[in-house]
Amino acid sequence: MEARTIAILGATGSIGTQALDIVRRYPGAFRAGCLTAHGSSDKLFDLCREFRPDVAALVNEPDEIPEDLRGIQWFFGPDSTVRALLASKCQDALCAIVGIAGLDAVWHALDVCERVLLANKEALVTGGELVTKKAVEKGVPLLPVDSEHSAIFQCLQARQGNPVKRLLLTCSGGALRAWTKEAMYRATVRDVLAHPTWNMGGKITVDCATMVNKGLEVIEARHLFDMPAEKIDVVIHPQSVIHSMVEFEDGAVLAQLGMPDMRGPIGYAMGYPNRLPYDATPLDFAALGHLDFAAPDPVRFPCLGMAVEALKRGGSAPVILNGANEAAVGAFLREQIPFGRIAEVIDAALQCVPVTPIASIADVYTADAAAREAAKAELGMRN
Ligand code: NAD
Ligand code: MG
Repeated sequence: MEARTIAILGATGSIGTQALDIVRRYPGAFRAGCLTAHGSSDKLFDLCREFRPDVAALVNEPDEIPEDLRGIQWFFGPDSTVRALLASKCQDALCAIVGIAGLDAVWHALDVCERVLLANKEALVTGGELVTKKAVEKGVPLLPVDSEHSAIFQCLQARQGNPVKRLLLTCSGGALRAWTKEAMYRATVRDVLAHPTWNMGGKITVDCATMVNKGLEVIEARHLFDMPAEKIDVVIHPQSVIHSMVEFEDGAVLAQLGMPDMRGPIGYAMGYPNRLPYDATPLDFAALGHLDFAAPDPVRFPCLGMAVEALKRGGSAPVILNGANEAAVGAFLREQIPFGRIAEVIDAALQCVPVTPIASIADVYTADAAAREAAKAELGMRN
């Protein structure tokens, strides 16, 4: 059997490099035909040396391409990811760019790929209805890579046509799970990046600490599984062993469990419907002893509620939430604002930017720009 060709969009990131680890382990099953990144050119050059893609892209054009990599077809500039993807003719695309910056790639992958493996949750938060509609029209499966959604996707395979009562997303609680509200306000970048169970990119690690990540995931679940917000719940589960659950009408709850290792859900999407034999650390229930659960605290983690509210409001509200969050998280990571300001900036943007209908991708970008303007104004007002 010939190896499936896969484009890894966001190849230098946390998800991208773990996906390449799977390609490395199964050279007969996968070939990375296209690798893309934003800035880290040396890292991408190293990956290109190892995986020898046909096509590669860097948003920031480097001074020069090393001589041994000139046989690769290179693309540069803001739309380089999409141009590289189209040129590569890969069968699958793993969309692992962070933020709304990845929406265009998801959109175009649906035109040219047989399957889209989706890590870039912000593409669904901002363009959910348009993206899922296009996936259905094109007959292209959107395979979840986010661990919670992969878990739900796996549990739903036991559905056999039965209605689902509720989706239960588990949530580690992030780095500040046990902090007081006052201490959280002044948490530093270093405090926040020390995630207890998962090792991820900077933006999503901050999102976990504010719990906006779980809100983005509720919105992602709404679109991936066509479930209304009222039927999606969140439960805190600090060990991150249960990756998420599905409840059926008879009260039965199915869960998917495993050690927290993103190569599980990434590999599941890559190999789907086959499970790749992988030497994952086995779960040792006796050593674990217990699994804990709690309800999320709406006072210390207001961003979760804001995201669910935005989903219920509909239209551009989730785009506004996402755009303001991206702007605020950027400012926090540059150490321009305290951690507690992130929630305030999102709240301010949701209060002042009018919610409009979303009928096209252009509408998404218009709402995103308005949210970033509002966030900038709020950030400029008081840091
Ligand atoms: P990351 O920051 O580690 O990597 C992001 C990648 O995207 C890099 O290769 C970077 O070069 C590229 N990129 C960034 N901005 C870009 C732009 N404007 N144009 C083109 N390329 C750009 O991020 P990550 O943690 O790997 O997360 C990627 C996506 O997967 C996010 O949407 C995140 O929410 C989701 N996700 C990540 C994890 C995880 O464990 N890291 C888990 C679940 C979901
Ligand atoms: Mg997740």
